[in-house]
Amino acid sequence: MTPAPTPPVHAALRGHIVTFRGNPFLMPPADALVEEADGLVVITNGRITHVGPYSETSTHLPPGTDVADYRGCLISAGFVDTHVHYPQLPMIAAYGEQLLEWLERYTFPTERRFADGDYAATIARTFLRELLRCGTTTAAVYCTVHPQSVDAFFTESTRLGTLMVAGKVLMDRNAPDFLRDTAQRGYDESRALIERWHGRNRQFYAVTPRFAPTSTPAQLELAGALLAQDETLFMQTHLAENRAEVAWVKELYPDSRSYLDVYDRAGLVRPRSVMGHGIYVDEQDLCRCHASGCALAHCPTSNLFLGSGAFRLFDVMDAKRPVRTGLGTDIGAGTSLSHLQSMNEAYKIAQMNGHRLHPVQAFWLATQGGAQALHLDGRIGTVAVGMDADLCILDPKATPLQALRTEMCDSTADLLFSLMMLGDDRSIRATYAGGTKVHDRDESATF
Ligand SMILES: [Zn+2]
Repeated sequence: MTPAPTPPVHAALRGHIVTFRGNPFLMPPADALVEEADGLVVITNGRITHVGPYSETSTHLPPGTDVADYRGCLISAGFVDTHVHYPQLPMIAAYGEQLLEWLERYTFPTERRFADGDYAATIARTFLRELLRCGTTTAAVYCTVHPQSVDAFFTESTRLGTLMVAGKVLMDRNAPDFLRDTAQRGYDESRALIERWHGRNRQFYAVTPRFAPTSTPAQLELAGALLAQDETLFMQTHLAENRAEVAWVKELYPDSRSYLDVYDRAGLVRPRSVMGHGIYVDEQDLCRCHASGCALAHCPTSNLFLGSGAFRLFDVMDAKRPVRTGLGTDIGAGTSLSHLQSMNEAYKIAQMNGHRLHPVQAFWLATQGGAQALHLDGRIGTVAVGMDADLCILDPKATPLQALRTEMCDSTADLLFSLMMLGDDRSIRATYAGGTKVHDRDESATF
């Protein structure tokens, strides 16, 4: 018997639509911005079918569709977090150390607990709820070395209908026994997880060697072998975050020209590869990233928290060889899951480097730029017809101070700037994943 076809599910949102038609680092920000002050987004079966001024677009509303009224708020594409560790959520705000000592002292003991699948499920659930409370609908996520940490994460993401990229960490040296796999075991476990999850129900797999110091050359080579089997797979790792780390990689891989070259030799530098940080890279590395389609994840709050260094955003985005770049919160080294806070700190880092990060550039990085970094810009990152309806609703008057500041705003760019400097999870009025509301700040409903 053929099942009865499911009727289409419609939704519609009314508010001030803000999105982008291009990269504002390569064109004037005012030209890159697309907005509709009284706009309507119509959604059918999780995809956007109509976008435009309310007066015209409301004629396309399917009969009986309720319009969620967000007038006074901005409708944006959901934020994209290009680098984050869900198991580190409980150890956010760990005092005192820089990268290598911080890993040893705080991270490894925390990640050990994810051998327990029930604990992993609890943290995965909390983490995804927190992400949605911050308006982030897609993230590239590190799990732990334990396959059950990946199962727990994708199970919860499937339940929520979010589009996520994640993978099991590969680590076969320079880590405690309880967190080590072997090159072969890491390969076999990753393969099984790929078969179980990759491309199913909006879940995508990322081959995830933690970073060059914790993988033997043999493990990096097998990671490359996994990627060579399927060009739709993602890859994520860390690159040149901290000076001591860079010096260590030079010792461990004396034959490689640079840190990036360690990964390149193993076949890990390619489209859908995301390198976390990339602070200490040279011109040749940036040219290689540009040519290969591999991306960098700029993690401002983490870089400041661990004292790692200042990412050279405007050099990375140089028009002669722009590198795909998104924003990463890098929890637990980052200090907030809110990309409004990532933008805030990115602005200050740019200032320290003598540049002005325009609010349109910042919001582009958090949405369309992040989607391009993941090569997912055909599906997410823009409010436009045909895109998945992954959206966040931003309230520019979430606190008394923001309401006061918003009264002073004389342009959309200024409104965006005040949001990125003063905003946080309180600024997210609601979040939608695949057209379904998955967070509502003002309702007590659990999702
Ligand atoms: Zn990280």
